[in-house]
Amino acid sequence: MRRGWRLEIVDFAGLGRALDCFYPGRLALFRARKAKNLVTTTLRDTLNRQSGMYRVAAKISDEQVNALVGNFCRSSDGCLRTILWKRDATGAPASTQLPPEKFDTSHDQTGDGEPVIPLLCQEPCNLLVAECRKAVKLEGAAPSAPE
Ligand code: SF4
Repeated sequence: MRRGWRLEIVDFAGLGRALDCFYPGRLALFRARKAKNLVTTTLRDTLNRQSGMYRVAAKISDEQVNALVGNFCRSSDGCLRTILWKRDATGAPASTQLPPEKFDTSHDQTGDGEPVIPLLCQEPCNLLVAECRKAVKLEGAAPSAPE
């Protein structure tokens, strides 16, 4: 929890239940990663499987991805997950504009420097997919430069 909340828990089983209530599935992902069983999905794979109105999101350029992810996923603006996915099959990072700590599962994304159970981001979320779509649409709507 980020600020101002306090939950009193009597044992580890209660802690597990509480974490599952507040962050469904995150503890299971953490355990899977510890067991080296966690599979990640690249942004390109996520975008390429979109359908309907989100299909166009796959047209986003690598440069746009770099800037968009660098801005949208940063911890200082509220997304406290630790990114595990790559941009594409080449292994390119999600964004070169994010600090290395954003990809470090031992780092406290709140910036408080506390020991953490990280909230893992193993696959780009729907919000990011929607932002990719928006970026492509805006690019298409931009007036072309005079010749
Ligand atoms: S893809 Fe979504 S959940 Fe993952 S770090 Fe970015 S904003 Fe957070």
